[in-house]
Amino acid sequence: MPSSKRQRTEESETEGPHDFSRSESMWLEDGNIILLAQNTQFRVHRTVLAMHSTVFQDMFGIPQPQEEPTIDGCAVVHLSDSAQDVEHFLNALYKRSYHTKALPLNVFEAFLRLGHKYQVLHLRDEAVACLATEFPTTLKEWDDLLDDYTALDVSDEPNASLQLLRLANEFRLNRYIPTLVLSAAVTSSLEDLYDHVPHTISANNALQIAMAAEKFREARNEVTFAWLKLLPSNQCTTTKACIAAARRIASLNFFEFKTGTSSTLGTNPLTEWEDSWGKRLCSHCGPYAHSYHEAGRILVWGNLPTYCKLPKWDDLTNFD
Ligand SMILES: [Zn+2]
Repeated sequence: MPSSKRQRTEESETEGPHDFSRSESMWLEDGNIILLAQNTQFRVHRTVLAMHSTVFQDMFGIPQPQEEPTIDGCAVVHLSDSAQDVEHFLNALYKRSYHTKALPLNVFEAFLRLGHKYQVLHLRDEAVACLATEFPTTLKEWDDLLDDYTALDVSDEPNASLQLLRLANEFRLNRYIPTLVLSAAVTSSLEDLYDHVPHTISANNALQIAMAAEKFREARNEVTFAWLKLLPSNQCTTTKACIAAARRIASLNFFEFKTGTSSTLGTNPLTEWEDSWGKRLCSHCGPYAHSYHEAGRILVWGNLPTYCKLPKWDDLTNFD
């Protein structure tokens, strides 16, 4: 009788050098097929796999040779996936309540990777929807985002945006790459990139972030906050006061924002207008600066993919 704990199977101990363990959560007594991923065995049902996945359906349609070894009378299918990914994948297929809230990053990756590979589209698309929530494709959604992640649980992942960018690139989830690059650029230092190449991100991804970061800084200075250099406005009523206010706002936004020990690569070109800035300016300069700032943000948002060397927003597609 297999216990609920992982254990070496008796077959493997007597038959050879294999050191297999049984999955704790996915060794089902009445299962009729065994999936083997790395050294972990999963006992599940052919019909359930075939119902969810056309890839498994096709695989089971091919007659298996009679002499293939079996375990407990079940055919064994070797998978090239990681045991951890398969564990999350099977749990999600069998248990409706398996991770219905914010997905931890490893579960997210398993859903995306195996959902895509085995064409379990509801699982794959659940992962994609998480990414779409955290890395939206409109300025309105971007502005409405909360500071913390909501669809993904990245509380133990200090460099979540780098890991997500790697996956977005691997699966060609191009629609989310502009905001992923922006997030990575404004949260990572050059040292972070150095530490994470090549195991977390590729050298190409690191370069993409570094090059985009330059564009973001330029856009912030020359587009979003360009009004700082244009004040006072033509109709200014308090020239000296508005020039002094502009200097103060510039100082707050360009010189006093460094708080950490290492500065980030990029600065945010989409900083939202603050009413306190308008209050420092006269009744003409305030609205003038505000509308200039908003127009700048819209312009920068439109150019965001271009800063990342990608096609325009409308031409960005997923999975191709
Ligand atoms: Zn003024």
